[in-house]
Amino acid sequence: MVASGFDGVERRGLMFVLSSPSGAGKTTLSRMLIAETPALQMSVSATTRPKRPGEVHGKDYFFVDHTRFETMVANGELLEWATVFDNRYGTPRAPVEAALSSGQDVLFDIDWQGTQQLRDRSPKDVVSVFILPPSVSALEQRLHTRAQDSEEIIRGRMRKAGDEMSHFDAYDYIVVNDNIGIAFEAVKSILRAEQLKRERQVGLSDFVLGLRRQLEK
Ligand code: 5GP
Repeated sequence: MVASGFDGVERRGLMFVLSSPSGAGKTTLSRMLIAETPALQMSVSATTRPKRPGEVHGKDYFFVDHTRFETMVANGELLEWATVFDNRYGTPRAPVEAALSSGQDVLFDIDWQGTQQLRDRSPKDVVSVFILPPSVSALEQRLHTRAQDSEEIIRGRMRKAGDEMSHFDAYDYIVVNDNIGIAFEAVKSILRAEQLKRERQVGLSDFVLGLRRQLEK
């Protein structure tokens, strides 16, 4: 629990999930959110996919081989896991549980399969946002500008984008990323509003009672 700044009022940490087809801007939005929100901790996933240029082990992902990944699954070290583009991805459990129990919010950049598993496990703590591209041409352009993947991989990602989008209706919020600044403001507002939800603030009754007692004096 984290103190809210008001006497005796604390807040449960929440699990803030951003999903989208690749190229819709989710990674940029996640980075902006982390940079601006010190109390938000990024969940670093484990993956069997090869490292892209510029990616850092332990920061972008924990890059592991298939054997290590299966061991993590077997040992219950992952909160959720899924196969995406023929590679395995999963969320290490320990850092998330440590953050949540100390009242920190955790940000997840995971797909719809992982979001569903987190929601089944902790329905009250998960807030999910799906980011959509404004158009197919914008999506294609972003995948090319990123220039991290081969033509073949980009074509594969475009094909998968439609499938991923079909799961938008399982999310709490939808943000169309036409302009990164506006989309960022939208995502920040969602996080702030969810942090302030009455049911997430523990000890409010006593706080209000205290205010009322002082008023009656
Ligand atoms: P990329 O390979 O482009 O980094 O990620 C591919 C997809 O895998 C993205 O949609 C990303 O959100 C998803 N992903 C990344 N980490 C995880 C994870 O730990 N669990 C799940 N279920 N999906 C993940």
